[in-house]
Amino acid sequence: MSRILLVEDSQIFGAIVKKTLEKQLQRNIIWAKTFATAKQIIDDQKEPFEIALLDLNLPDAETGEVVDYAIAKGIPAIVFTSRFDIELHKQIWGKGVVDYVMKDGPDSLNYIAKQVIRLERNPRYKILVVDDSSVIRRLISKLLQIHHFQVITAENGIQALSMLEQHPDIKLVLTDYNMPEMDGFELTRKLRRKHSQTNLVIIGLSTQGDQYTAAKFIKHGANDFISKPFHAEEFYCRINLNVDTLENIRLIRESSYRDYLTGLHNRRYFFEHAPALHQQEKALCVAMLDIDFFKKVNDQYGHDVGDITLKYISAALQNALPEAKLIARFGGEEFCVVLQGVEPAEAQQCFELARKDIENTAIPLADGSFNVTISIGLCTNKGSSIEGMINLADEQLYRAKEQGRNCVCTTLETNQVI
Ligand code: GH3
Ligand code: MG
Ligand code: MG
Repeated sequence: MSRILLVEDSQIFGAIVKKTLEKQLQRNIIWAKTFATAKQIIDDQKEPFEIALLDLNLPDAETGEVVDYAIAKGIPAIVFTSRFDIELHKQIWGKGVVDYVMKDGPDSLNYIAKQVIRLERNPRYKILVVDDSSVIRRLISKLLQIHHFQVITAENGIQALSMLEQHPDIKLVLTDYNMPEMDGFELTRKLRRKHSQTNLVIIGLSTQGDQYTAAKFIKHGANDFISKPFHAEEFYCRINLNVDTLENIRLIRESSYRDYLTGLHNRRYFFEHAPALHQQEKALCVAMLDIDFFKKVNDQYGHDVGDITLKYISAALQNALPEAKLIARFGGEEFCVVLQGVEPAEAQQCFELARKDIENTAIPLADGSFNVTISIGLCTNKGSSIEGMINLADEQLYRAKEQGRNCVCTTLETNQVI
């Protein structure tokens, strides 16, 4: 059941909006052409609509009655209109809409699609509003709630710091400058000692007229600044921009930790995370794994099949070693795996089973399939560092290759086949 409602009387325009947004959002949109049908559809819905895209000018509702109706039923409303006059703009924003979008070409449809996706994701974000004025706290909280953010409030910098201790998942702080106990600059400075600009967004707020406050906030470490009084439209633009930036940074960070071909973690991720595992007071095993005669796969079937093989082997490794703390592609056809809290003999057994799984993994070809094997070197002596363990595992891998490949060699010297 679709949970997006479009109310639009123009046959041509409605059809374009429905088709474009359905394609971009990959969802059905329910389209009503009059206020009366829209009311009927809204009343018949068991679950409220996720969002309503509303034309202001309908034959049976010429002054935006549909907006009041949707909002009264708790449906977030995006107004979509070709009319712009300052009075109307003010009046519509006053109703508590999510957005007011001008019908001015295909870009506005792209913008709406982006807004719908943004609204769906916003409940993941917890925002802390810091202001000594209860009126402002309420006003900002309401605006953020209309956009489905989680909201927490504090009256001054000291309370804000304790809120951040209690809610470490806060992603954005909106702070006033002038507050008793601790002002916005001091709060920003203190927060920046612990949280970088890419992990926690801080937006300063202050009364218009003080031309120095914006720059000071940013110099203290804020990401952005909004002057009071502000228009809801500007407020949302800045919040969305900053949340988009957080998401883009997360995406870039995540992709910088992954191997593009196999989706496994990469070397960088491994060396940033493995030392912490080594420091814990638990047994640790490090294994180096290398596909046997992989060059022949490329030579015989082509590089593309070589790539597919790497993907199959990576997936097979993840399936075979679900308890692994880390599985990384180190480069080429070489992988490194860390097991924690597993005793040496058990670890050897795990890798022996993984070796067998790989041996039995069929790599499909256009006509038939083939198999590859891997050699594994295992280090079960915790030693003084992760690098030291990798070197020992590498020596064992070399031994496994020497012994004829498709086997596990370990620092335990108990090299029998299980
Ligand atoms: P051994 O059993 O001694 O490990 O032999 P091998 O052939 O597996 O080892 P060698 O180091 O001689 O060759 C590894 C090959 O892996 C050479 C390189 O072209 C190929 N290779 C490395 N990365 C990739 C990749 O991302 N895709 C493909 N298709 N091939 C890759
Ligand atoms: Mg104040
Ligand atoms: Mg190899």
